[in-house]
Amino acid sequence: MKSELKRLIDDFVAIFFPRECGCCGCVLKYQEKYVCIDCNYHLPYTNFHEYSDNDTARQLWGKVPIEEACSFLLLQKESRVEYLIYQIKYNRQPFLAEYFGYLYGLKLLQQGRYQNLDLIIPVPLHSSKLRKRGYNQSAYFGRGLSRAMNIPLREDILVRKKATVSQTGKGRVERYENVDDIFDCNEVILAANVHILLVDDVLTTGATIVSAALTLLNAVDCRVSIATLARA
Ligand SMILES: [Zn+2]
Repeated sequence: MKSELKRLIDDFVAIFFPRECGCCGCVLKYQEKYVCIDCNYHLPYTNFHEYSDNDTARQLWGKVPIEEACSFLLLQKESRVEYLIYQIKYNRQPFLAEYFGYLYGLKLLQQGRYQNLDLIIPVPLHSSKLRKRGYNQSAYFGRGLSRAMNIPLREDILVRKKATVSQTGKGRVERYENVDDIFDCNEVILAANVHILLVDDVLTTGATIVSAALTLLNAVDCRVSIATLARA
């Protein structure tokens, strides 16, 4: 009886505030949560977490010593994932990042290589950008992973000193050299040799996450693995 009443109320609310799919914008049916069945089925999942030698890991090889690296989804132009990232970053729907983080966390838990993690750290936004947007979408992604994997999320360790990275017109080597002073580490007491999962929303050139990982490796006695929601 109680659940019937809840459903009635939900249906009533949905008439005035229809919930929309985070990947295509269609109106969600009652049993659909955040993403419609069609999108859920057709999203370009990479399955990178199932093997170490994947495109995300390869992109980072030789730039930073990492344990594992993976991306949940493939980001292509004018796609469902592009729509999703837009909703997360610019349409005030960071809970979608948390939802996908939770789903990904459940998948990572099934892989032995991701079972010995100690901490999750999101790539931080610069304080000016955080104020403007109101939230860090990567932290929401990390929050979902944290809930699914039961690993603490720490937002107090890595700090962003520089707002943006200018990369235009620069060669690959130079790009990685100029990112040294983007992040900083707060002094915190951690166990020796902690295994950190560094997380971000989208992997593009990799310059930002490489810089963040290098900052952690220089400042903390740790090993670093990487997970991103999408990969361009
Ligand atoms: Zn959809």
